[in-house]
This record gives sequence, structure tokens and C-alpha cells, in this order.
Amino acid sequence: MRFSEIIEHEAPIETWFGVGGCAHTLARPRTVEQLVDVLHAHAGQRVRVLGEGANLLVHDGGVDGLVLSLERLNSVEYHGYDVSVSPERPRHVVATVGAGAKLPKLIVETVRLGLEGLEVLGGIPASVGGAIAMNAGGAFGEIADVIESVEAISMTGSRLNIPHDEISFGYRHSGLSHLIITSVDLHLTHLPEHKQAGVRQRLKDVMAYKKNSQPMADRSAGCVFRNPTISGVRTSAGLLIDRAGCMGLSVGGATVSDRHANFIVVERGATAEDVIALMRLVRERVRASHDVTLQPEVVLWARDGVALLDEEQATV
Ligand SMILES: Cc1cc2nc3c(=O)[nH]c(=O)nc-3n(C[C@H](O)[C@H](O)[C@H](O)COP(=O)(O)OP(=O)(O)OC[C@H]3O[C@@H](n4cnc5c(N)ncnc54)[C@H](O)[C@@H]3O)c2cc1C
Repeated sequence: MRFSEIIEHEAPIETWFGVGGCAHTLARPRTVEQLVDVLHAHAGQRVRVLGEGANLLVHDGGVDGLVLSLERLNSVEYHGYDVSVSPERPRHVVATVGAGAKLPKLIVETVRLGLEGLEVLGGIPASVGGAIAMNAGGAFGEIADVIESVEAISMTGSRLNIPHDEISFGYRHSGLSHLIITSVDLHLTHLPEHKQAGVRQRLKDVMAYKKNSQPMADRSAGCVFRNPTISGVRTSAGLLIDRAGCMGLSVGGATVSDRHANFIVVERGATAEDVIALMRLVRERVRASHDVTLQPEVVLWARDGVALLDEEQATV
């Protein structure tokens, strides 16, 4: 294999925000074997994994080390699914999915096949690997609910298979950020034909809920801050930001959305520094009005030694 076919230098990092600098080295391996070869060839360097970039803010100065995009590891295989038969009773199906597969496309495909399980995640932009790393979800469920096991590779190239029960899934947390997730076994249910319309309707309802409550068409990274736990109760960060009077607040090309206060939306020409300055301002206002220090949900990438928010950066 020639590395030149899968590696670029000073390559733009595509994110939903659409701001920020380049990756010093960006690799897009086609197979897990190539991924391991790339890791060995860059031993000792910092490794970061890029999904769809829907929860990522890259600093304007870009990042050093190796960035891995798994977009080519996107196969989907169904086990226990018979396309010619509609079962009389719900049947267990396992989908083995590459980490680079796009979650929204997978949801549409599984719902079309009459498979229940993923429809509650409708409207979440993600790669499957990124959704697992973040334990993506919301009001209707989270991806951990349908995970049987995860295949991953350590930063030094060892392969691991981790069953669900050994993963410390929590609110927007998987504890897998030190690994490279390469694929997952999802347990889904093949429904009898008369029950399939219900799943299609649920997906429509979830999508409608998201469209009504979030600025889905704007450039953002979803919720910027984690919902804090106050006196043992998980509390909406959006509500605190709204009550602190931050809706509509702007710095440069970044603005606190007037649809959902925990979304920062950016216009063309905005910089990562605009977003970071706005995050700092929102945090100060919420701290002043509610005595709560919000922690970022969005993952912040910068060169080693560059601190973006003065405190701890998001880990997943
Ligand atoms: C409009 C909009 C709406 C959103 N709504 C929701 C929502 O309802 N619920 C929700 O939970 N999130 C939501 N988000 C945030 C985002 O969709 C999720 O966090 C998603 O899981 C990010 O996946 P990604 O592939 O884009 O990961 P990225 O943003 O690329 O990366 C996020 C983190 O995951 C790590 N990662 C990515 N792939 C891998 C891998 N293969 N192995 C190991 N680590 C990996 C990255 O290193 C990084 O730390 C929304 C975002 C947008 C833009």
C-alpha cells in the first residue's frame, strides 16, 4: 500500500461549524489493516479521530499529529434478516456497521427494512463511531440502548472487542475516547409488517420534534454545553443560558441561536475564535446569574499546548 493514496498533509478538517484550521496529517484508511499500518507509521504522534465533525470545534490554528477519518470504513451487514420474509413475531437482527457509516442514512435504511431500534435517533448528524463515542441521543433514547458490542483499536494498534456491559455509557459519555472505534454490533428488531408503519411514524415524529426545537439548517455543533447536574438533578443548559439573557448574543460571526439557547450558530466568515469567545461570554453570564460553571459538550481540538477554554476541555 502506498500511504500517499490515503494520507494528505495540511488538509482541511470538515466540520458542521465549517470553521477552523487544517490537520497536519489526515489519513483516510480503506481497511482496518491500513488503519493499523498508519498508526504504526506515526507511532509516538498524537492521534485524533474525526467522524462527521458534528460535535467538533477545530481551532483556527489547526492541529498537529495524526487525524484519522474512518469515512471509508462504512460497511453495513445484517445478520438474521431475511428480506423475503416478514416475520409473524418480532425477530432479533444484528447489524454490523463500520464506524464511518453515516448515522442518518443508516436510520432511514433500517426503518425502510422494517427494523426497529434506531428511529429514536432521527435528526442527529453523526458517523456511527462518533455517535458511540459521544453516546449520542436525546429525549427519545440514546445509541447505547441498541449496542451489543464495539470493535476498537488502541492507539498502539491492538484490536479489542468490548461488550456493552464493559462500556461505561452515561449521559453523552462512553469512556471510549482513548480508542479508535472501528465497528459495532447493533441489536435491532425485525417487525411484522403490520407494525412497521408505527416505526416509520415514530421517525417522522422525532424529526418533526427536532426541526421545531432546534436550528437544524444552520451551521452549528448541536448543544455546545453539557446539561449540568444541580443538587442531583440534570438541568437544561439551554434554560440557564436563556435565563442569563444570552439568546441572540453575538461575537463576530457566532451567535447564540434564538431557537435553542444551547446552540451557537455561525455565519460564513466566522472563526473558531469567535465561537470560543462567545462560549466564554455565555459561561461568564451563566456563572454570574446562576453560580454554575457550564462544561463544554462540543469537543475542542487545538495544537498541543493551546488551551481554548481556560478550564478542562470536553472528553468523551
Ligand atoms: C444540528 C445538530 C443537531 C445535533 N443534535 C444532537 C442530538 O440530538 N443529540 C446528540 O447527542 N448530539 C447531537 N448533535 C451533536 C452530534 O451530532 C453528536 O455528538 C454526534 O455523536 C457527533 O458524531 P460525529 O461523527 O460528527 O463525531 P465528531 O464530531 O467528528 O467527533 C466527536 C467526538 O467523537 C470522537 N470520535 C468520532 N469518531 C470516533 C471513532 N470512530 N472512534 C473514537 N472516537 C471517535 C472524536 O474524536 C470526538 O472526540 C447535533 C449536532 C448538530 C450539528
